[in-house]
Amino acid sequence: MTDPACPDNERVDAAVRLADVRAQIARAAADARRHANDVTLIAVSKTHGADAIVPLIAAGQRDFGENRVQEAEAKWPELRAAYPDIRLHMVGQLQSNKADEAVRLFDCIHSLDRPSLVAALARAMDRAGRRPDCFLQVNLEGASGKGGCSPAALHALLGDARAADIPVIGLMTVPPLDREPAPWFALLAKLADDHGLTGLSMGMSGDYPTAVRLGATHIRVGTALFGSRG
Ligand SMILES: *Cc1c(COP(=O)(O)O)cnc(C)c1O
Repeated sequence: MTDPACPDNERVDAAVRLADVRAQIARAAADARRHANDVTLIAVSKTHGADAIVPLIAAGQRDFGENRVQEAEAKWPELRAAYPDIRLHMVGQLQSNKADEAVRLFDCIHSLDRPSLVAALARAMDRAGRRPDCFLQVNLEGASGKGGCSPAALHALLGDARAADIPVIGLMTVPPLDREPAPWFALLAKLADDHGLTGLSMGMSGDYPTAVRLGATHIRVGTALFGSRG
């Protein structure tokens, strides 16, 4: 199958990187006696244009992640028209005033982290008649400002989201930089289990095999698939 928008050498590079990531997912899943099919690989394409994205689509990748609504709005409508089975994930901090755009554009939102955003997303979902799956983002260090609710605030936030009929499918975290990630992943898995949630959005280019071993259902991988963001 040839795609005029995708030169052969770029297609081969993308296919090789994708195959490598998938092989590492398969190995980590086997280590943990899990099925690799239970792990959704999200290719985080922030800062990359269609020229870098199309070769990955041609290689079979279908889940993509962005961290800014405006950037996603500029990039994805055209690509989605060409490839209707793509699923788009919002992985970055979301401003309440972008809730309508986010609900229209994304199939899954990984960064629900505060009551004001619950309210904004609930209104946006009612208006759009569309309810994307959501993850509650947790800041496991308990620090505020970086995105993510504190573990102490999680229970109330989940209650708010459920009362507002927002489909919460799991928890998401970005562990602290330069620290061993495994304990944070294990803690997120424990918190999710305590709250009856099965989805775990955790693991990036540097640590996704560890995340898969510890139960990740959604991993968010940018650099390992696209190369560095410069
Ligand atoms: C950019 C980003 C990623 C991907 O990071 P890489 O290290 O390039 O794999 C994952 N999650 C979030 C929230 C991001 O912003």
